[in-house]
Amino acid sequence: MTITHHPDTDLIVAYGAGILDEASALLISVHMALCPTCRTDLEIAECIGGVLVDSELPSLPVDAVTHTAIAAAAERPRDPGPAAIPLRGRGTDFVFPQPLREYVGGDLGDIAWRSLGGGIRHFPIKLRGPSKARLLNIPAGERVPEHGHKGTELTLVLSGSFYDRGSWYRRGDVEFTDEATIHQPVAGPEENCICLAVTDAPLKFRGWLARLAQPFLRI
Ligand SMILES: [Zn+2]
Repeated sequence: MTITHHPDTDLIVAYGAGILDEASALLISVHMALCPTCRTDLEIAECIGGVLVDSELPSLPVDAVTHTAIAAAAERPRDPGPAAIPLRGRGTDFVFPQPLREYVGGDLGDIAWRSLGGGIRHFPIKLRGPSKARLLNIPAGERVPEHGHKGTELTLVLSGSFYDRGSWYRRGDVEFTDEATIHQPVAGPEENCICLAVTDAPLKFRGWLARLAQPFLRI
């Protein structure tokens, strides 16, 4: 499995600092379960979060403190972590990584889908806070009606694939869209596309967190 579309650095840093809304945190945790690259970035982000929590932010030379801590984290030998979850759910394997199974109480076969019309189905996930998370089930080859967005949306592929605005998104990939996006994704032809979508999340962060971390991350 090769993941080519990762969440923005801002989101990983905010997740590591524990300041994401619940729906976005769920999506990022599912991506982490599938993506060794971002798990490495998260380790650094958590270090940044720890430093920020531990420090009296306004009165300390934060840049110096943080850079030292980040550099130490970046230079530590990497634990490769648990192996990425297999591409498809077969036998005893799961389609849904553990954080998602805990939220929905089971795996793909346990979902009580509700129709959205046009063969597309969904399953809202109960969460705290204003942002919303739901599973989407789009039939193979089906074109989602063209639509825009009132706010930001994060979409993570769990099974199958979709094509949108010049790119394919497959298991583990995350697409980010905002108010400026008008699009018409189409599910891949092989099988239904199962996604986790998060909408209305407050995803805009003060960019300095990410800028601080950027020299040490992959971007
Ligand atoms: Zn990733």
